Amino acid sequence: MPRRKLVAGNWKMHGTASDLGQVAAIAEASKQFPAVDVVLCLPATLIERAARAVPGFSIGAQDVHFADKGAHTGCVCTAMLTDAGASLTIVGHSERREAQRESDADVKAKADAALSAGLGVILCVGENLETREAGQAVAAVSTQLDGSLPHGDGSAASVPDRLAVAYEPIWAIGTGKVASTVDIAEMHAAIRERLRAAYSAAGNEVRILYGGSVKASNAAEIFAVADVDGALVGGASLTAEDFVPIVEAAAAAVEASPAIA
Ligand code: PEP
Repeated sequence: MPRRKLVAGNWKMHGTASDLGQVAAIAEASKQFPAVDVVLCLPATLIERAARAVPGFSIGAQDVHFADKGAHTGCVCTAMLTDAGASLTIVGHSERREAQRESDADVKAKADAALSAGLGVILCVGENLETREAGQAVAAVSTQLDGSLPHGDGSAASVPDRLAVAYEPIWAIGTGKVASTVDIAEMHAAIRERLRAAYSAAGNEVRILYGGSVKASNAAEIFAVADVDGALVGGASLTAEDFVPIVEAAAAAVEASPAIA
């Protein structure tokens, strides 16, 4: 199956009810680009209201606990996300790996739980600046991925079509710095290799997104890189004005390469 482009927004800790108009505007404008899958990963407090406001549009979460219930103050489980109307969740975002000290094993457990509950998963990996400058970026991300991939032992044949991997160099997130297209191509090829190692031929079905200061002005160049199947977008996903042109750039990339549409 050819891979469809996926453009995902990550609102992080932004957004209250007054911002639901932006969700609706993004959902409406995205209808013009049916070749692109679009999802907004919202704060947990907005998921249900957004899902009710824009039925049919994909709403995601930014994290999930791996346990199915229990004494985990402040956390949400997969059943809560599904109940609220989310269809996928981000796991392993670098802001959580760093601030909440989440390990690869934690991230894997979350991805396994989400997939088992029927949710899609965007699994984030990425190196810090020190690692990049030491020439260790590919090795570090490969190790991170091997430790975080859900059902990486091949135990679930249905994993790949609901899984996406987001390569997000930490030094590019929210900084305005973007990895070079050469570095993105090198890393996405390495990630594809690890996915094939984990899932055999089905590893070709997993979408690999780039994330890190993607905006309207650089999206087309990034989407033209081999093995870039879309983007995970933070700051530029908060308004329709900033986000919709990125979706449009993804649609243009599909048109330019219909063989991978
Ligand atoms: C992100 O948070 O996943 C991200 C890529 O943020 P930004 O687009 O703002 O760099």
